[in-house]
Amino acid sequence: MAVPKKKHTKSRRNKRRRNIFLKAPVLTICPKCGKPVLPHTVCFNCGYYKGGEVIDVLKKLTKKEKKLKEKEIAGKEKEEEKEEKSAKKPLSWEELSKSR
Ligand SMILES: [Zn+2]
Repeated sequence: MAVPKKKHTKSRRNKRRRNIFLKAPVLTICPKCGKPVLPHTVCFNCGYYKGGEVIDVLKKLTKKEKKLKEKEIAGKEKEEEKEEKSAKKPLSWEELSKSR
């Protein structure tokens, strides 16, 4: 049996163990529904990936669940439209100088 030749110090042991811990997953926000998603992964809330529908999320749901989900997705799209409208307002130099 292989036997260690020398004792490893606490320092050495702790250095080895300093990388043993759970890391929080890196999340991005789905551009379609705004929920946190793992990068390079299909969104499981709306089934979209890279701007196209990959999974039909509504297929397996019951009628009640379908209605709720459709409402949820439609509501978020409306919110996005509102945000875009407010963001698209161009800022003129006069307005910017007034605020200072
Ligand atoms: Zn999504």
